[in-house]
Amino acid sequence: MNLPRSPWRVAPWLVALAASPAPAQLDATAFLAAQLDDLVALYEHLHRNPELSTREKATSARMAEELRKAGFEVTDKIGGYGVVGMLRNGAGKTLMLRADMDALPIGEETGLPYASRIRGEADDGRPVGIMHACGHDLHMTNQVGVARWLAANQDRWRGSLMVLFQPAEEGGIGAKAMLDDKLFERFGKPDFALALHTAHDLATGVVGVRPGWAMANVDSVDIVVRGRGGHGSAPHLTIDPITLACYLVADLQTIVSRELPATEPAVLSVGAIHGGSKNNIIPDRCELMLTVRSYNEETRAYMHAAIQRKAKALAAAHRAPEPELTFKDGTPALRNDDELLARIRPILRRQLGDHNVVEIGPQMVGEDFSRYGLAGVPILMFRLGTIAPARMAQLLQAGTPLPPLHSSRYHPDARESLRAGIPAMAAAACELLR
Ligand SMILES: [Zn+2]
Ligand SMILES: [Zn+2]
Repeated sequence: MNLPRSPWRVAPWLVALAASPAPAQLDATAFLAAQLDDLVALYEHLHRNPELSTREKATSARMAEELRKAGFEVTDKIGGYGVVGMLRNGAGKTLMLRADMDALPIGEETGLPYASRIRGEADDGRPVGIMHACGHDLHMTNQVGVARWLAANQDRWRGSLMVLFQPAEEGGIGAKAMLDDKLFERFGKPDFALALHTAHDLATGVVGVRPGWAMANVDSVDIVVRGRGGHGSAPHLTIDPITLACYLVADLQTIVSRELPATEPAVLSVGAIHGGSKNNIIPDRCELMLTVRSYNEETRAYMHAAIQRKAKALAAAHRAPEPELTFKDGTPALRNDDELLARIRPILRRQLGDHNVVEIGPQMVGEDFSRYGLAGVPILMFRLGTIAPARMAQLLQAGTPLPPLHSSRYHPDARESLRAGIPAMAAAACELLR
């Protein structure tokens, strides 16, 4: 970089930038020695006390308290139970760090001493077990650790830090709710945003990065297949919606397998089918619940139209009333900012070792962190390895598949995950706020 010769005419931040060498590896040894026990205790507390999407009351109160204790200026109840902590440390860029807080309606089967025994009601009123099966408890704990480190090491960075705890990621509505609640108008639009997500298939100490498109569009479709109910002994007097629903489940599969090119990423899964009440009654209706995933907007639109076409044609072919279809926009596809990744990848390598930063493929999962990107902020989400190498070796040797996210048996090895995740994220933050 060529700097003007007369330093009194140079902006002070430019002098500082020119004088500061590339950051060395961040040494968090002393910090982790002092804090890791406390953070693991926080993790276990969060794991034991999961809360479902939009109901993260106690969790968000705890996150607000943690941020206040670390010296952040805290605002809560943004877009529901969203929390924002601001820490201003001189002029400079603004970095947003984001963690999500919600758990899932899954009964835990990990057998851990700190396993969740919490039960509650799903959105439809069904009694369910509740579990942090997507690792959001680890995201929160990691972010508390990073917030504490950055608050205690303000000589290592300058600018503004915006630490965000987001509700309702699993429903795909939390980020939108926070943005709709004027998140960026109230706190300023950040220059960049970073987040991490647990990975069930990466060892602790390893992170996975993906340039460009990384996660899919996720939409939900509810279909009510309608018929005409009656006695099971006299099907000729009825129009049987159960039979129609079965045809439809099979026919929907041909959208991906027979209508879209094999090279085009697309998934259509029927996740629920509900109909009828008794052996000898043909019901009036049968309900299907679908998840529909894609990367490409044209593919997305095509799939929606095809679902409609098949459902309506099937009803017409069988004299049935028109089906009811409800399309619910979920999570838009997530695109990691290439420049941001180019800047952060060497930092992660320096922090964790070259071989511990691996490139991963795109996935058909969704993450509403994408919405901050669509709002114009360069975003980067990387995956954090959470399975201790010894446990991973044991599982693989036994031929046991690694429990995936959203499984009742998934759990991260928290201590070792945090030992890598906190310095990695803190180092990335320091790079962006140099
Ligand atoms: Zn999830
Ligand atoms: Zn998740």
